[in-house]
Amino acid sequence: MTAMLSDTTAADVPAWRTEALCAQTGPEFFFPEPGGSVSEAKRLCMACEGRPACLEYALTHDERFGVWGGLSEKERQQLRRTGRS
Ligand code: SF4
Repeated sequence: MTAMLSDTTAADVPAWRTEALCAQTGPEFFFPEPGGSVSEAKRLCMACEGRPACLEYALTHDERFGVWGGLSEKERQQLRRTGRS
């Protein structure tokens, strides 16, 4: 998610973040209120070229909240439990 870039400089930002489709939307899609839908965020992720790198980043950095790489918090948690290749 590009919303988390405040602690990095432009030179540190990987390509998948600068081209992220979520940068063109509001964070409410990716970080909805409890019980809110994430279907629109997931739809955008499926069209985002950076999705594999984004998901890898989220798993590596143990991001707990929001949609990253097309997966919700619960889906990433399940992926961590079952392992990833
Ligand atoms: S995969 Fe989704 S969350 Fe990740 S950069 Fe793309 S649009 Fe944003």
